[in-house]
Amino acid sequence: MNHGSFRYCDVSLPVPLDQPFTYALPETLRHRVQPGSRIVVPFGPRKLTGVILSCHDDAPAVAAREALRLIDAEPVLNPELLALARWIAGYYCAPLGEVLRSMLPLAAEIRSGKVWSLTDAGRDAARQLMLDASPEDPAVQVLRMLEKRPLSAAYLSKALPLADKAVRSLERRGFIVAEQVQTERDPLRAPADRLRVELAAPPSKSRDREGADVPASDPKLNKSERELRAFLELHPGSHQLKDLEATVKNASIAARSLARKGLVSLTPEPMSMPAGPVRARHALNPPQQAAFDEIRAAILEKQFRIFLLHGVTGSGKTEVYLNAIEAVVAEGRSALLLVPEIALTPAMAGQFFSRFGDRVAILHSAFTDVERSEQWRRIRSGAASVVVGTRSGVFAPVTNLGLIVVDEEHDGSYKQEETPRYNGRDVAIVRAQEAGACVILGSATPSLESRYNTEKGKYTLLGLPGRIEERPMPTVELVDMRQEFLETRKQATFSRKLLDALAKRLENGEQTIVLLNRRGFSNFVACRSCGERIQCINCSLTLTYHKRDRRLLCHYCGYAQKVPTVCPKCASEHIYFLGLGSERVEEELHQGFPTARIARLDRDTVTGKRQYESILHEFSEGNFDILVGTQMIAKGHDIPNVTLVGVISADVGLGMPDFRAAERTFQLLTQVAGRAGRGSVPGIVLVQTINPEHYAVRLAAEQDYQAFYQKELAFRRALHYPPFSAMANLLVRSESKEAAMRMSSELALRFTPPPEKLKIMGPAEAPVARLKNEYRYQFLIKAASRKALNQLLQSVRCFALEHKWGATALVIDVDPLSLM
Ligand code: ADP
Ligand code: ZN
Ligand code: ZN
Repeated sequence: MNHGSFRYCDVSLPVPLDQPFTYALPETLRHRVQPGSRIVVPFGPRKLTGVILSCHDDAPAVAAREALRLIDAEPVLNPELLALARWIAGYYCAPLGEVLRSMLPLAAEIRSGKVWSLTDAGRDAARQLMLDASPEDPAVQVLRMLEKRPLSAAYLSKALPLADKAVRSLERRGFIVAEQVQTERDPLRAPADRLRVELAAPPSKSRDREGADVPASDPKLNKSERELRAFLELHPGSHQLKDLEATVKNASIAARSLARKGLVSLTPEPMSMPAGPVRARHALNPPQQAAFDEIRAAILEKQFRIFLLHGVTGSGKTEVYLNAIEAVVAEGRSALLLVPEIALTPAMAGQFFSRFGDRVAILHSAFTDVERSEQWRRIRSGAASVVVGTRSGVFAPVTNLGLIVVDEEHDGSYKQEETPRYNGRDVAIVRAQEAGACVILGSATPSLESRYNTEKGKYTLLGLPGRIEERPMPTVELVDMRQEFLETRKQATFSRKLLDALAKRLENGEQTIVLLNRRGFSNFVACRSCGERIQCINCSLTLTYHKRDRRLLCHYCGYAQKVPTVCPKCASEHIYFLGLGSERVEEELHQGFPTARIARLDRDTVTGKRQYESILHEFSEGNFDILVGTQMIAKGHDIPNVTLVGVISADVGLGMPDFRAAERTFQLLTQVAGRAGRGSVPGIVLVQTINPEHYAVRLAAEQDYQAFYQKELAFRRALHYPPFSAMANLLVRSESKEAAMRMSSELALRFTPPPEKLKIMGPAEAPVARLKNEYRYQFLIKAASRKALNQLLQSVRCFALEHKWGATALVIDVDPLSLM
């Protein structure tokens, strides 16, 4: 490709200052640079990696520094993705550098971390403190170390046991500043089980001398290097590095040093393809066919169209996706399928492999960096044209995009809860529009926003109203726990009805799922005398009691402590345990059904993706009778032998201070009910509740989406909530309560009188008023006009920059899903 020749390039860097920086190009780079490639540039005293936005010959007013090194010969981001990044930065009010960073999965090559350095004030303070304070003071030690050179946060906390605390306080006083710095990581540092090793091809000029130039006992190699090389000579071909460790001592270290000398080559292990069950291809039933026909017509016309595929649980949405993707691939175009984090299981991936073979690439957050960049490269080269991924999969560098499918489009995991706070579903739509591609949003419980868009004619509604093979929808019964209490005079976890139903399943060898709504079901510790709940020292949240290791844990920041023997507030000894965790539910089940085989799935039992999958797999193989769990078990698993789903306290979510509380409860109950009766035996669902008359609970039981939608829509309309307004959440946070209050009142001043078309509520303490050691105040903004909202938010950002607020003090969340 002819790249032209340019003297300058504008580079976006991952720094809070939201502007591109111009660098001069050395002679060697002038012909090679292209927008979308990464480049290493000097920034202050450091080197940073940024993305080239444009190349040009316009000399800047101030002499530009010279760029150092180009990382990518071919751009990692094509013009389409660069344009998408700009849209995200604008719409979500996020710095472009941060957007670009979160789009690139090539973290294997780039290591990022905080680097601390002294401010001018810090330099002065260092002198003073060194005179005044004890040299053992960790703050003094940190200052002394930083006086010599900037240091990474990781290095500091390793070098000094108390560094973290000292660093925080020095930062608060303005003595030190942190910068996100990216450095290249040696690809050879991947773990041994991810690398393959083989002898490097000898340099071509020495080939005629056939090995004579490299004596087998090269004195410059150490013993294990010589052994490894001898082994590879005897066993040609590529070997997994891990396997060699049994044969050759220190094989891993030796291989890396031989690779640096160019004597062996190390390459990442090709990803192991999950072996899912080969699923029979089904002839589409009439509703599936009708939906597919309409989608195919749009695909063939290369139109940008958005379809909302509203199909009840078990209606066969996946089969429609597969057919649509096939139609796109047949046209020589490519397709993206996005699924919620938890739904991307080997079984799910397996369906795609069995249909599309090695044209499939999987982008999964549980993969290592090496695996992810490997997938990314296959996509970019065009080798993979069907991509299955979670949220960030929307950035996969496919070319000639024809279709994006967003499965479970209502799912909260599409929203990124850190900057840039984008929603993968909405980004998918923007990307498809640019590409002239189709979008299918699929769900059994479409979000109010998406469903409303079909009414306004923006999306086309396609329906799959019944289950496959006319299997009945499960029967859902509400169990009124208030009544249960009146009749039994016991505050029981399980109603008599649920216990009876459970016993019957065990007799028949059928399986049961028991779901608890996590939010109301943590164990916590309280004081009987003063009522104090033991809270996290960093967050205004109650700590959860973990029986297994007898500790109190914060689920937000990870803080842990022993259970106190006296109340920290009133010193009373009457500490007691309250609440009901899944652990206790499991225990009660064991007591009630001593012979039942019970598995539990929640955040405490499951630490990794693999474990989660293995428990589910065991359950679906019939190795357990009962599966107890939280929200995790509600989604997308097809287990035919489950004929009973019990929901313990369906309604705790209704009490959340969030206008989406009813919608979430409805979605959760519908989804979990959909787990029952997916096989040939019909299923029943028992929902225990203390609000049986609440419309979200009642209509979920009746499985009446339409009625719920109408009712909820009326509520949103009356109170100007989305989809009848655009919303944003502004969060102001600081480790100092005074600073947080001061900043939020400064903002409040700016907001009076309120700008036209906007309604600004706040500042108020955020529902979680303190989190990870920071105090939090929030403004909720409802806007009749998106443009007005965006203008306001952009001006707030400028305000924070001008007033030198800390880099993390202001959080802007556009279209927030969580108001906590
Ligand atoms: P949904 O995602 O809508 O809940 P699935 O796509 O998981 O439903 O389909 C439910 C089950 O029905 C799957 O086991 C699938 O293989 C099967 N299935 C899908 N379409 C058909 C069809 N046309 N005929 C027979 N079985 C089908
Ligand atoms: Zn007390
Ligand atoms: Zn905490």
